[in-house]
Amino acid sequence: METGISVERAIELIRAYTNPVGTERIPAIKAHGRVLAADVKSPIDQPPWPRSPLDGYALRSEDTKTAPVKLKVADTVYAGGWSDKTVGAAQCVHIMTGAPIPDGCDCVIRQEDTDGGTDEVLISKSLRHYENYCFAGEDFKKGDVLLPSGTRLTGNAFGVLAAAGLLREDELLTVYKPVRCAVLCTGDELVPNAVRPLPKGKIYSSNEAVLAARLTELGIEITTVQGEFSDDPNALADAIRQAAEEADVILTTGGVSVGAKDILHETLPILNAERIFWRVKLKPGTPLMFSLFEGKPILSLSGNPFAASATFELFARPLFAKLCGCEDLKAETLQAPLETPFEKFGKCRRFVRAILRNGRVILPEGHSSGQLASSVGTNCLAELPPSDRPLEKGSPVWVWML
Ligand code: AMP
Ligand code: MG
Repeated sequence: METGISVERAIELIRAYTNPVGTERIPAIKAHGRVLAADVKSPIDQPPWPRSPLDGYALRSEDTKTAPVKLKVADTVYAGGWSDKTVGAAQCVHIMTGAPIPDGCDCVIRQEDTDGGTDEVLISKSLRHYENYCFAGEDFKKGDVLLPSGTRLTGNAFGVLAAAGLLREDELLTVYKPVRCAVLCTGDELVPNAVRPLPKGKIYSSNEAVLAARLTELGIEITTVQGEFSDDPNALADAIRQAAEEADVILTTGGVSVGAKDILHETLPILNAERIFWRVKLKPGTPLMFSLFEGKPILSLSGNPFAASATFELFARPLFAKLCGCEDLKAETLQAPLETPFEKFGKCRRFVRAILRNGRVILPEGHSSGQLASSVGTNCLAELPPSDRPLEKGSPVWVWML
């Protein structure tokens, strides 16, 4: 087991020991939210023919060299229609947005740049070759890779399938199987929301609510959100065994530090689980642990609500990216200047809740890892580097988007 490792090494180990879930073939119409495990190619050109991007007149640009000029209107074509006319010299076709451009034409003049005539039309300006002309296959061509493997089939990707005529029951797509995750929160002090009033010495468990919501937002199925609520190593071992029957991955919170009731240290040997690492050089959430039970990853987060939520973003997301075959699940990172100075400094890399707004990083009040309320409305984690003095306004920091 490695210990006291960097954030990068921890992510590297998590990904090295995690394998993508298997794949399956399912009807395209049922694939919303799933991740492609093979490229999807287009069977058609889109649009299938050259089309007009506006209402006006389709014509030959060479006829407009001497504009203003009058042309004969040989036909009218609407979206959904078709003109068989081949447009010749001094001719044009009245055309609407989305209609196919007839043969012979190489451009379209806007209705507003004409006198709108019906038999004959006055063209007020000259046009370039292919001005206002959408080519066949402008969006995509037959044989193009429309959606590469690893794409999550959400809004626009689903629309592209439809535009290519692939959104059908009989079009099968190769996708990764849904990823199923179990969440087990440990701690004798925890009670579920069903308990009211709150007994002495107890608090409501919030970690499973945060993790379950984030998992849903990332498209991960939750198998058992099981209030374990006990600091008994054997009971937790049983719960992990049971969870592993269905889940591809198990998240635990609490019990990974060095306290008397930090039971993961007893539970994992009971399970014969292989410990890959424990303790990562970051704040909060230092006692992060990663292990394998019968080959399945168990990521054990510290119980402190902000620590659990921050280490979920930093470490669980790359794990899910690997499991799901979808790298988009990892947090996007970028650099931006601090708007709010940060007084606390130290030798350890620190991640704090933050708001990235107009390219600047604003820090809310309340940074203890036991505080959750100040996280509401934040949209990123700001990474504050080790420092021997407070970080001033304007200091560049890395930002991990939620
Ligand atoms: P632990 O990691 O078990 O030592 O817990 C650290 C702190 O986080 C303690 O103050 C716990 O009461 C608190 N905590 C642990 N689990 C949860 C949870 N599921 N919801 C809210 N707070 C928790
Ligand atoms: Mg505990």
